[in-house]
Amino acid sequence: MRLILIGPPASGKGTQAEALKERLSIPHISTGDMLRAAVRDATPLGQEAKGYMEAGKLVPDDLVIRMTLERLQRPDARAGFLLDGFPRTRAQAEALDRALADAGLGLDAVVLVDVPDEVVLERMTGRRTDPQTGKIYHTVYNPPPPEAADRVVQRPDDNPESVRVRLDKYHQETEPVIPHYEAEGLLKRVDGRASPAEVTAAILRILGEEA
Ligand code: AMP
Repeated sequence: MRLILIGPPASGKGTQAEALKERLSIPHISTGDMLRAAVRDATPLGQEAKGYMEAGKLVPDDLVIRMTLERLQRPDARAGFLLDGFPRTRAQAEALDRALADAGLGLDAVVLVDVPDEVVLERMTGRRTDPQTGKIYHTVYNPPPPEAADRVVQRPDDNPESVRVRLDKYHQETEPVIPHYEAEGLLKRVDGRASPAEVTAAILRILGEEA
């Protein structure tokens, strides 16, 4: 299955992707995770991406498109993939369409995880990640277990200024991608305000998989 998860920052795409990848036996490809790894390893791509990411801005299309299309060439993506955080612009959506069409492939669904701005802002400021396991928590709604409480960290781009920029970028750059997939009959909407397990169940239902 070839699937895209789209939605505002902190809509729960990463959490859903982690739950779905096991169920669907496809790799979770998160462009945000790939870019954070590149920054951590100080690769040429990471050095270029770092400033954009910390400011909450989008990394330029050519860099992200090249990185993502290369990743999709890897053998584990042959059986399908779950893209999280890509495409974020019309240019990225068109580049992906072209690459898939060249390979004689198509998408099965684009799932929009819908969450209003006020919930996004609340979630981003409380979000914490466990660097050891990659698990995502929230200080109020999903606090880390005692053994992880001392090691959880806040993403450097989850500060109030970057959060506002990221939300604005979502509305300006990423929302225009939605009608593109709607026109192709691929778009499915789920309410991202429900609990993580409920959202997973809703997505599986939409995909025709038993929850
Ligand atoms: P995420 O983990 O998906 O919230 O992504 C974190 C940051 O990585 C974003 O705020 C952007 O700076 C960058 N990023 C991730 N995916 C993309 C993309 N498809 N296009 C441009 N920038 C991206």
